[in-house]
Amino acid sequence: MAVKIVIDAGHGGYDAGATYNGRREKDDTLALALAVGEILEAQGYDVVYTRTDDVYDSPVQKARIGNESGADFFVSIHRNSSPTPNQYNGVQTLIYNNAGLKATMAENVNKELEQVGYRNINVVERPDLAVLRRTRMPLAAEFRRIAPRTLQSW
Ligand SMILES: [Zn+2]
Repeated sequence: MAVKIVIDAGHGGYDAGATYNGRREKDDTLALALAVGEILEAQGYDVVYTRTDDVYDSPVQKARIGNESGADFFVSIHRNSSPTPNQYNGVQTLIYNNAGLKATMAENVNKELEQVGYRNINVVERPDLAVLRRTRMPLAAEFRRIAPRTLQSW
C-alpha cells in the first residue's frame, strides 16, 4: 500500500496568514501544496489535501481531516513574514517533539532545501501548535519558509 501523506496548505478563506503588498500567505501555501502534492503523486505516494481552494478550516479541523484520512504523514506548509525586513530568510521545520522518525524527516527536509539554496534555520519543537498536537499519525511536521517582509517566491 502506498504511503499516504496529508499536505496542508496553511490558512485559507478569511484567514490570509502573512500579507505584504497584497500578497497573501494563503495563496502561496496553496500553490506550493498543490505543486508538492503533484510531485509526490507522480512518485507513487497517496496524497490527501486539507484544501484545494480558498476555504478556511481551523487547525483543529485540519488535524481531524488528517486523522480521518489514516495518513502516515501530515505536512502543513506555511510562509511567514517578519516586521523587520530581511530579519529571517530560510526554511524552518516545526515538529511536536524532537524524537523519532518525524525529527529525522524534518532534518532531511531542511538539509535538502539547504542544498538548493535556502538557509537552514533549524528544526524547532512546538508542542503548542494545534495541528501538531492533535494529529495522531506518528509523523506530523509543519514546514515554514520564513521570508523577509516581501514574501519572496519559492
Ligand atoms: Zn502561516
